[in-house]
Amino acid sequence: MLRERLEQVVKEQEMQKPAESEAPIGAPAPLPAPEVAEPFLEAKDVHVHYGNFRAVKGVNLRVPGRQISAIIGPSGCGKSTILRCFNRMNDMIPTFRLEGQVLFQGLNMYARGIDVVNVRRRVGMVFQKPNPFPKSIYENVAFGPRINGYTGKLDEIVERALRQAALWEEVKDKLKQSAYALSGGQQQRLCIARALAIEPEVILMDEPCSALDPVATLKIEDLMRELVREYTIVIVTHNMQQAARVSDWTAVMMMAEDRAGEMVEYGDTRTIFTNPKDKRTEDYITGRFG
Ligand code: ADP
Repeated sequence: MLRERLEQVVKEQEMQKPAESEAPIGAPAPLPAPEVAEPFLEAKDVHVHYGNFRAVKGVNLRVPGRQISAIIGPSGCGKSTILRCFNRMNDMIPTFRLEGQVLFQGLNMYARGIDVVNVRRRVGMVFQKPNPFPKSIYENVAFGPRINGYTGKLDEIVERALRQAALWEEVKDKLKQSAYALSGGQQQRLCIARALAIEPEVILMDEPCSALDPVATLKIEDLMRELVREYTIVIVTHNMQQAARVSDWTAVMMMAEDRAGEMVEYGDTRTIFTNPKDKRTEDYITGRFG
């Protein structure tokens, strides 16, 4: 049963992953995750409280550049909380408190004097439900560059971002139409284009496909494999097949007995899905738990 399940996951993974020769140009050679020499992002002994409730404890996560890292685990184990630490999105929550360090290329993101707007410009985010603004397709993508005071040719930026998000061909003749006229999958790619338009270095994705049908989901996954040639991607998903298909590295989180989320295991995706070290990971990926 376990063997069959693992073989199926690996087979799916093999089908979706680019062959060795198609590996992203310029991507660093994979190293065992915890030993990644210079992680692009890093959580160091991170503890998060919401008021008196400890949501996450002692999380260490080293995210390599220009690769896809997935965070998986059952609902409520702190995946989104950790993800949101990487662009200070939790700052908006008044009860949020962080201990430990979150580093962006070695720089403490939570240090005094850090410009949060700049952090969010460099670390973009895509959410669970597509959330385009009630504006035209064009204006959704132009929004970020505009508020950042960009004075160059907006048309070029909009076209480039829409091309990068694999949406240009579908919308190039209706840029003035409302974003709401697009399908759910197209809206999510529009949100990705909107994030790309401000030229971030990292894209955080919080369950980006959970509101989409399987075809739209595969499109987003293909797009992620394209984008990782240029960007560092961290995705939170409770869909294990998705993590197996799309990611280079997988971090497994679980809830401890005190309900605080902790990191159970982190490694290259293939090993996590075929030869997990921790019994809880094995139980989770074989569907016996969570
Ligand atoms: P996951 O993404 O794994 O589902 P979350 O990071 O969303 O988990 O949540 C982790 C824990 O923190 C859960 O118990 C959740 O109820 C709690 N939590 C999340 N956001 C808040 C918040 N804004 N205020 C209070 N508790 C929160």
